[in-house]
Amino acid sequence: MHREVTTTVRVKLHSLTERKARLVEREYGAFQEAVHGDGNANLYSATKQQAGKVKSNKNPRADTEQPVVLRNDCITIEHDEDTVLSSWWFKLPVYNSEKERGDSIWVPVRVPEKDTHLLTDECIRDSELVHRDGEWYVHLACKRSVAVADEYDDVLAVDMGAKWIAVSTFLSDRDTQFHGAEVRRVREHYKQLRKSIGKAKVRSGAQVIERIGDKESRTVEHELHQVANELVARARERNAVIVFGDMTGLRFDNDEGRYVNDKTHKMPYAKMANILTYKAHLDGRECLPVKEYDTSRTCWRCGSQNTSREVQGRVECHDCGLDDNGDKNGATNIGKRAVGKDITSPLSTVGAAVAQPETQVVLKGTNGEMEPANSPDDVGLTLSEGSPRL
Ligand SMILES: [Zn+2]
Repeated sequence: MHREVTTTVRVKLHSLTERKARLVEREYGAFQEAVHGDGNANLYSATKQQAGKVKSNKNPRADTEQPVVLRNDCITIEHDEDTVLSSWWFKLPVYNSEKERGDSIWVPVRVPEKDTHLLTDECIRDSELVHRDGEWYVHLACKRSVAVADEYDDVLAVDMGAKWIAVSTFLSDRDTQFHGAEVRRVREHYKQLRKSIGKAKVRSGAQVIERIGDKESRTVEHELHQVANELVARARERNAVIVFGDMTGLRFDNDEGRYVNDKTHKMPYAKMANILTYKAHLDGRECLPVKEYDTSRTCWRCGSQNTSREVQGRVECHDCGLDDNGDKNGATNIGKRAVGKDITSPLSTVGAAVAQPETQVVLKGTNGEMEPANSPDDVGLTLSEGSPRL
């Protein structure tokens, strides 16, 4: 089975002649005008269309700069070792105001060595011209197909939480790990910093806060990558498929009379889910979202929702007496739902033996619960048959 992955390759423009620098700058400026209001700016025609889309889809704030979207059929990157100035050249579409029409210029670019194998015309998708710290970059989106395995020996279920970025549990024996509390610490630190700057009424407070925001998001992003690496490495150890709780799931709450999310969150879940999926696919491993509704308030052991979460971080079941870590409970339920045969199971779309009782199930062991207070004897969690009682 194959999955598409998209990698962003950042190439830097260098050694621009005055004329080319002027054309790049003009195109960028005209794009800003186009996305922020004036529909009459002179742009390369395909780029002008893209500006229209950015304007209607994103409706960007007036004080933001938007990268110029370059349609994939208008750009080309070429390797030429024989040229003295640069071994990589990029064909950039621009509006040429001297000729009063669309034109293209070849600009010298630097490509990170590790990414050179990704740059073939067939794999390049719509990309972006970015201006940062006085330098020009093109962020090339490179899409390719990678093979992922069809069969697995275990399920690594991931619950993304507010306290920990992720809590992961193997479904076979509930071996659990907690990943990356750091993000919360980083967020808290910068929140305090912003507050104190705001109070002090620093003259350039706004700029300082903006720079802090940049630094913060880079730190957070780094941490998300770390956590994703940990999760993929962990899944690899047991040849496990990765499943994670899908945050976008809403459930109808009768008491509230409206759809609610099970978690109120400030964590960048969507980003975490993207990074994890990307890294898993590159590792040849399937990674799938599972609806998350009710997973935190349902007892993983008996399926009862007669539970309470009054003690910080714990879940207690009033029916079977379970007293468990709340995140671990949630992750286990996510794993159960992933293999459930009466729940529309995302795993069934994998064609993985995991989800199909008639196939020889690869999952082994159903009674690995190690907490002595919670005897697993009555668990009823048989991975090969029976429906998870969620
Ligand atoms: Zn229970």
